[in-house]
Amino acid sequence: MSVTCALCRRVFPNAVRRDSQAIQEHHLRPEERETSPTVTLCRPCHDQIHATFTNEELRADFDTIDALRDADRLSGYLSWIRGTEKLDIEVDTSDHVRGRR
Ligand SMILES: [Zn+2]
Ligand SMILES: [Zn+2]
Repeated sequence: MSVTCALCRRVFPNAVRRDSQAIQEHHLRPEERETSPTVTLCRPCHDQIHATFTNEELRADFDTIDALRDADRLSGYLSWIRGTEKLDIEVDTSDHVRGRR
């Protein structure tokens, strides 16, 4: 069975799952884990989302996978990652997010 990342839509064959952290669940409404819907993401997408948006922004404006996929702030990342097979990336937490922590 293969896994598809809900954000970048890359498909990962079973072998990749030997790295148990390579595929992760994202709570679309962070800090509401009990009730939040979840999506399955590859690790780079998950890292990138949390480096790009604060939890408040995710809850307010980006609590669906469609909103995330259309987000201007992710478009450069998405076109890049779709051309790679990477499962590990270096993310630079934006100043904007870092300032809110
Ligand atoms: Zn992905
Ligand atoms: Zn998450």
